[in-house]
Amino acid sequence: MARRLHLRRIELGQIDHEHSYLSQCCYAPDVDRYAALVDALRAEIPGFRIVRKDRSRLHRAIHRALIVVTFGRMTSYLDSYQTTIGKTVYVTSDWDDWDPDRRYVTLRHEAVHLRQFRKLTLPVMALLYLLVPLPMGLAYFRARFEMEAYAESIRAAAEVWGRDYPTATAYRSHVIEQFVGPSYGWMWPFRRAVERWYDGVVATLGLP
Ligand SMILES: [Zn+2]
Repeated sequence: MARRLHLRRIELGQIDHEHSYLSQCCYAPDVDRYAALVDALRAEIPGFRIVRKDRSRLHRAIHRALIVVTFGRMTSYLDSYQTTIGKTVYVTSDWDDWDPDRRYVTLRHEAVHLRQFRKLTLPVMALLYLLVPLPMGLAYFRARFEMEAYAESIRAAAEVWGRDYPTATAYRSHVIEQFVGPSYGWMWPFRRAVERWYDGVVATLGLP
């Protein structure tokens, strides 16, 4: 249970340099970053909304399917993962109880997916994300999309909790495990390559 709570705390989302309103420099300490980000996303993505996952029939069906295709190993989809589809971010039922900074960091990750959906359209994004070249074990596009989003997670975590946070072993290994482990269907099981990617993102923290 303790481990689970720990992991949930570090399930984080990421900064996109082209979006200057998310700039690391611009928040006064007393500004609710989460509320500001929700407002910014509403303006950027018309139709953007946040919905509870456990109230979505689609997500309950995905949950059951994931248990089957991961041989029973992925059982936490409904209560551990935030998921973006199209213009909607589906969140776990405890979302509103989270610390606003944690919601902010996670939403930064999901904002990357919102932009990916907008750029590619829902059918193309869904096809690439779910099936190309394989649904599991070697999911090149899923790994690319998630690398872009987790890079944002890393930057947002550094912004909120300090530059040392993403280099803490627990966080680093948690993120790497998302790529090489069952959580996303072993999407890119090349640990060395994922570690190099992670350390490359960390190396750019604080750079202009
Ligand atoms: Zn993601």
